[in-house]
Amino acid sequence: MTAMDELPRAAAAPWAARGSMFSQPGLARPVAWATSHDLDRLRASHARGRLGKPLVPTSVSSPRLGDELFARLLTYGTPQETHRGDVLFRPGDEDVDLIVVDRGSVEVVRTETADVPAATVAAVDAGGFVGELNLLTGQNVYLLCRVREGGTVYRVSPERLRQLMANDVELSDIVFKALIARRELLQRSTAAQAMEIVGAGRSAAALALRTYAARQRLIHLWFDADTPAGQAMMESSGLTEDDLPAVVMPGATLKQATPGALAEKLGLSYRRSSTKPVDVTIVGAGPAGLAAAVYGASEGLDTVLLDAVGTGGQAAASSRIENYFGFPFGLSGADLTGRAVLQALKFGAQLASPCQAVKLDTDRNGDLLRLHLQGGEVIDSKAVVIATGARYRALPLERWPDFEGAGIYYAATELEARGCTGSPVTVVGGANSAGQAALYLAGRGSEVSLVVRGLDIAAEMSAYLVDRLLVHPRVTVRCRSEVTRLDGGDFLEEVSITDRTADATQAQPCAGLFCFIGAEPATDWLTGIATGDDGFIRTDVQLTDDDLGPDWATLGRRPLPFETNIPGVFAVGDVHSGSMKRVAAATGEGASAIASVHKAIATLA
Ligand SMILES: Cc1cc2nc3c(=O)[nH]c(=O)nc-3n(C[C@H](O)[C@H](O)[C@H](O)COP(=O)(O)OP(=O)(O)OC[C@H]3O[C@@H](n4cnc5c(N)ncnc54)[C@H](O)[C@@H]3O)c2cc1C
Repeated sequence: MTAMDELPRAAAAPWAARGSMFSQPGLARPVAWATSHDLDRLRASHARGRLGKPLVPTSVSSPRLGDELFARLLTYGTPQETHRGDVLFRPGDEDVDLIVVDRGSVEVVRTETADVPAATVAAVDAGGFVGELNLLTGQNVYLLCRVREGGTVYRVSPERLRQLMANDVELSDIVFKALIARRELLQRSTAAQAMEIVGAGRSAAALALRTYAARQRLIHLWFDADTPAGQAMMESSGLTEDDLPAVVMPGATLKQATPGALAEKLGLSYRRSSTKPVDVTIVGAGPAGLAAAVYGASEGLDTVLLDAVGTGGQAAASSRIENYFGFPFGLSGADLTGRAVLQALKFGAQLASPCQAVKLDTDRNGDLLRLHLQGGEVIDSKAVVIATGARYRALPLERWPDFEGAGIYYAATELEARGCTGSPVTVVGGANSAGQAALYLAGRGSEVSLVVRGLDIAAEMSAYLVDRLLVHPRVTVRCRSEVTRLDGGDFLEEVSITDRTADATQAQPCAGLFCFIGAEPATDWLTGIATGDDGFIRTDVQLTDDDLGPDWATLGRRPLPFETNIPGVFAVGDVHSGSMKRVAAATGEGASAIASVHKAIATLA
């Protein structure tokens, strides 16, 4: 029996059925990355929710390289003779190589965990290669690769893979698309059982963990502890309610898991292999930081991108962005920023999260800037881009902190909305983000009260949203009104809304309060940076002579576009004074700042 035979028929890669269409001469023979429809059923049975549409067709997961391309791929690797049963990598291994199979065959196996037996997820024959997106993200391996039939493999190290991506457009396109397609397929296959997350459906800690896993596109399976599937999974893994949320992986179980602990286990926290200073460190991976990372890395700068939470920023909290240039049908913020993450990785940027910057030494030491991270690590860089955006404002109400993540949300995406589907919800705010959230939640069957403090909903909101809200049968707009009281047990159950015109207060059921009342600049970790009265960072022409210290006289230049009063430190996006607070503006600023970063670095040399 061959490895291909072992895979369910439905699991064969789509191209396999097309036979001769792909049988042009070439070294490559079939490679199959399994997709199991059973897993989709399992997901559906405990409301795991829809997976997004694949970014690339899954058919590109198994490319067939012609002789010449395959030979080129081999030149990036180092040969290794193999024998049946040899293990080429195993779960937990760090910095693994892309494995190119020249002779013989290998299989990729999801090893057993407490509740699921081992399963083969891919079989790779001569002409194929083994690897998926973690080759670029730096995530530790979660699968095992074993030789089925001895022969020769070529190992392409992470460093050599980066060179391939940078130097060979044709090969890099094929390999990169295959890595992405495999991540999509693996997420839908039995491989997802390599990481199982279990938690209470409406717990804030579980939501934080799932948000992190979703934003990092981690291959995983979610179990709601209140469902029979969740209970069964907890029982077989020996977990109690006190252990939740928990993550079960081959050989490891994280109890009371946090995004930080998970990132540490997966190797996604910040690590630096080189002792050389970084060219540019970007703090904040929202649209502005991501754009800076894409442009920095693509223009050859050694680029590090950090985020205290995960990638995506505020934009990832938006269920539908309709005004972003080039997407006439709109797209979710998570989709948009997820694409940018892949682009940054492709160009070789190093991404790390959760990874919070807590201090920036602004006295340049030997021309380097030193950034301090929460765990005590430091990063020395030639330039720093601050793209920390803004933090959501809360209402000053008793019990607000109790319900954050447990009925009070600052985002309206699938993850937050799931617990509220069909139940009454309250959206607070009068700007576009509140309008979008109200429409999204109403579209999922909730009766929505949109609570606006001002007299007129049209004062701050775009006309297209106002028109849709006013005619929506499940949206009630309540102007000159405020939420004045919260009630519930462990979760929010009821809100009181006071109508200031009628001076009347009414309590009503509420499964979710979605709060969009603006944000404060995330600058509390910075000292010595010139800001406006509102706390947003001033740059270039916004700076006065009084803001510029003696360093500038030595440098003999004025601040470059987006440069702050500290030479080599830039500020872009929502954190920047006077910014437009829109995705397009943030990405524009992030990309443009890189031109200034080049110039600033040149003045150091
Ligand atoms: C619900 C919602 C809907 C929206 N809809 C739209 C829309 O339709 N169209 C539109 O154009 N705009 C929209 N916006 C606004 C848009 O999302 C923002 O303007 C944009 O995200 C700003 O990007 P940014 O990169 O500057 O900052 P942010 O997106 O705020 O990202 C900043 C990042 O920095 C990180 N960070 C903060 N402090 C630190 C630290 N000390 N260390 C490390 N990391 C840190 C944060 O975790 C965050 O990920 C919406 C916003 C929201 C909240």
